[in-house]
Amino acid sequence: MSRVLVTGAAGFIGSHLVDRLLADGREVIGVDAFTGYYSRQTKERNIEWARQHDGFRLVEGDLLDLDLDGLLDGVGHVAHLAAEPGVRRSWGRNFPRYLARNVVTTERLLEAVGKAGETKVVYASSSSVYGSDPGHPVDEGHGRCPASPYALSKLAAEEVVGLYGRERGVAGTVLRYFTVYGPRQRPEMALSRFLFCALRGRPVDVFGDGGQRRDMTFISDAVEATVAALEAPVGVYNVGGGTRATVDDMILAVKKVTGASFEVRYGPKAEGDVQSTWADSGRAERVLGYRPRVGLEEGVAAQAEWAARALVAAPA
Ligand code: NAD
Repeated sequence: MSRVLVTGAAGFIGSHLVDRLLADGREVIGVDAFTGYYSRQTKERNIEWARQHDGFRLVEGDLLDLDLDGLLDGVGHVAHLAAEPGVRRSWGRNFPRYLARNVVTTERLLEAVGKAGETKVVYASSSSVYGSDPGHPVDEGHGRCPASPYALSKLAAEEVVGLYGRERGVAGTVLRYFTVYGPRQRPEMALSRFLFCALRGRPVDVFGDGGQRRDMTFISDAVEATVAALEAPVGVYNVGGGTRATVDDMILAVKKVTGASFEVRYGPKAEGDVQSTWADSGRAERVLGYRPRVGLEEGVAAQAEWAARALVAAPA
């Protein structure tokens, strides 16, 4: 079986994907720049298990200047997850960083893949390319309407994948993940913040009135879809979790699984935060055999257990 290159390997989704591929007996090269979006210590912990595995090699470096030709030697599949994430921070003076880390990196990678030959790329895109849903689930043909510079950069990178497919024959699949959660979730994401505040006995700050609704995808389901996409026909696929929850529902779930009571402080809505997301994952089900298996309460409980362990390992 050919080698897999995972970019963003020390991040939330990337590290789980690496663990899963190694468990499947695949050889994995991980690339990560340990960007300062959140702490290096957290990312190092994400890849602790993988680093002990003989099948794993971590290359620390930035996709903006790494020698990619050398890295792609013997690689049959690339899962491209490296990115500058987050809607709120993507405005204004930060936008050049989003363009560089989300768009320029993707172009550099596809340029190198185009020269390398028979390598397939799976690109991690986002439900944010749709903007808010219109009151029903959106399929892949739904119009794109990004509501933040982050979303725009993810959409631009999708276009790069399309361009290199048409003009250079690079086999590229686009996965549009809908809010992924579970152990190792990025610390600034809502559920992660709520859990760490609950466990530390601190008040929880909410952007907006708590009514924003998300299609929530548990990490093992997102990974399952990604592994399937590596081998499946090229295409664009929504990856939703089959469970929708408002921010207030998340807070209730956190209270239920942790038993903690905490103050909730509602503030202004964050710019670029859409009101609602709702996936039609029918295509992923038909082509990738994708079926999300983990519901909200089970998923929040798993994340809470991890968060409690993380706090013991690195009390803040
Ligand atoms: P993350 O920040 O935890 O992981 C991204 C990793 O990429 C980080 O470890 C970072 O250091 C690395 N990275 C960034 N720029 C790099 C560069 N130039 N060179 C090398 N490494 C670089 O984010 P995540 O939540 O795991 O998201 C992974 C991917 O999935 C991203 O592309 C994101 O846009 C997409 N996505 C995530 C979600 C979600 O809910 N988490 C939803 C939709 C899409």
